[in-house]
Amino acid sequence: MDSVGVAAAAPDAGPGPAWQSKCPWGAPNTTSISCSLADVMSEQLAKELQLEEENAAFPEVVAAAEGPFITGENIDTSSDLMLAQMLQMEFDKEYDAQLRREEKKINGDSKVSISFENYRKVHPYDSDSSEDEVDWQDTRHDPYRADKPTTTPRRGFIGKGKDITTKHDEVVCGRKNTARMENFAPEFQVGDGIGMDLKLSNQVFNALKQHAYSEERRSARLHEKKEHSTAEKAVDPKTRLLLYKMVNSGMLETITGCISTGKESVVFHAYGGNATEEKVIPPECAIKVFKTTLNEFKNRDKYIKDDYRFKDRFSKLNPRKIIRMWAEKEMHNLTRMQNAGIPCPQVVILKKHVLVMSFIGQDQVPAPKLKDVTLSSEDMKKAYYQILNMMQQLYKECNLVHADLSEYNMLWHDGKVWLIDVSQSVEPTHPHGLEFLFRDCRNVSQFFQKGGVAEALNERELFNAVSGLNITADNEVDFQAEIEALEKMNEDHVQNHGKKLSTFSSDGDPPIYDE
Ligand code: ADP
Ligand code: MG
Repeated sequence: MDSVGVAAAAPDAGPGPAWQSKCPWGAPNTTSISCSLADVMSEQLAKELQLEEENAAFPEVVAAAEGPFITGENIDTSSDLMLAQMLQMEFDKEYDAQLRREEKKINGDSKVSISFENYRKVHPYDSDSSEDEVDWQDTRHDPYRADKPTTTPRRGFIGKGKDITTKHDEVVCGRKNTARMENFAPEFQVGDGIGMDLKLSNQVFNALKQHAYSEERRSARLHEKKEHSTAEKAVDPKTRLLLYKMVNSGMLETITGCISTGKESVVFHAYGGNATEEKVIPPECAIKVFKTTLNEFKNRDKYIKDDYRFKDRFSKLNPRKIIRMWAEKEMHNLTRMQNAGIPCPQVVILKKHVLVMSFIGQDQVPAPKLKDVTLSSEDMKKAYYQILNMMQQLYKECNLVHADLSEYNMLWHDGKVWLIDVSQSVEPTHPHGLEFLFRDCRNVSQFFQKGGVAEALNERELFNAVSGLNITADNEVDFQAEIEALEKMNEDHVQNHGKKLSTFSSDGDPPIYDE
C-alpha cells in the first residue's frame, strides 16, 4: 500500500444560487449578471455570454493530472458524466505524453527504434496531440478542396456509340473507389485523395476498406475497455460519477484526496456533509472504492464462494456484481461489529462498490496502522489484551472470523485499537473459517511476542482462547490437522442435515480474557 498526501484543507461552501449544483472539489465562484433590455438585445453581450458558457462547460482540467485527486474551481458539474469522461481523457493524454517522452529518450538517434504505441491510452484517432495539431477549418469553404470526382450514373454507362464508357472502365472505377472512401468512418483519415484525381484499384480499395472497418472496431473496443475497467491509478468514470453524486446530494461536503491505494481498493478521505432525517454523517469520512479489476478478486473468491450467506448468489453473478458483494460483505460485517461495540468504522452508506464509513483519524490524517506506531510497553500490553478481547467478541457475538487480521489492518487511534478491512471476514462455520482463524492467531501472536509482550499467548493457545475449542495437539502440524478435521465434520453435517452447526464450540462460551 502506498499512501498519497492528502489535498489541502477543504474550502468552505459559500451560499450560491439554488440552480447551482455543488462542486465536489470545492465551491465554484460565480458572479451574478444584471442586465437591461438593451443588454439582452445586444449581440456583443450574447457573444460574451456564450463564451462564458463554453468556458464553464470545458473547464481547465490540467491540474487534475498533477493533484492527488481532483481539485478545481468553477467546474460546472451539471453534466457529471461528461466532466468525468473529460477528466479521464486528460489523465490518458498526460499518460500518453509521458510515453512519448520516454520513447524519445530511449530511441535517441538510434536507427532501430522501439514504439510504445500499444501502451497508449488514447487511441490515435481520438488524440489531439499538439504535434499534429491543426486549426479548425470550415471545410464547406475549403479553397483547396476540388469538387467530387464524377462517377458513372446508375444505368452503368455514359456516352454514346463508340465513346461509351461502362462502370468497369479502369479510370471510372478508380475514381469511384476514391469517392467511396468518404463512406469510411469519419475518424478514418483518408488524406486528400478525394480532392486529387486519384484512381484506386479495386484491390487497393478493398484492402483499405478492410483496414478501415477493423480500425473502427478496434477503436470501439478500446473505448469500451477504457469505460469498463477500473483504472489502476484512480477510479473509473462510473465510480467518479457515484462520488460526484454523493457530493451533489449534500451527503459529503468535499472529497479531499486519496489516503490509500491497495490491490483491491482505493480509499479516499472526505468531509461529511449535511445530516438527513435518517442519517447522521460523521464530520470526516473514509470512502472505500472496491476495484473492479478482475484478476485480484479471483484470488479471493474462496472467501465468498463458500460463505453460505452469499453462496446462492455467487454462482449467478457476473464479476462486476461479485465486486459489489465484497463491499456489501464489508458493510454487513462492520455493522455486526458496531453492534457488538467493537471499535471499527461506522457504516454511512453503501452504493454499488463504494462504501462510505466514518474516518478513523483526525484532520485528514488517518490513524496509523499498528505496524507503524511505536507503542510504550504498557500500551503494547494494553493493545494485546484489547485485541484478544475483540477477537473473542468477533467470534462469539458477531459470529465472525476476521480472516485478514494483522498489524496492517489494525489502527491505533484515541489510545485504542480499531479493526478495519473486514470484507473478507467469514463466519466460523465457513469451510475454511477455522483455518483463517488460526492464521489470524498466528499473525497476532507473532506480532505481540516480537513486540515484547511476555503475556502474549502462542498461536495455538490464542486459537483455543478465541474459539472456545480445546484442541490439545502440541505441534502446529497436528493442530492444523485437527482444525481441518473439524471443518470436514461440519461439512459432512451440512451434507447430512442440510444445515450448518450453529457453532463449533460445544462446551459453552469461550472464557473472556481481560487484563
Ligand atoms: P485494503 O483491502 O486495500 O487493505 P483497507 O480497508 O485495509 O483496504 O484500507 C486501506 C487503508 O486505508 C488502511 O490501511 C487505512 O490506512 C486506510 N483506511 C481504510 N479505512 C479507513 C477508515 N475508516 N479510516 C481511516 N483510514 C482508513
Ligand atoms: Mg487492509
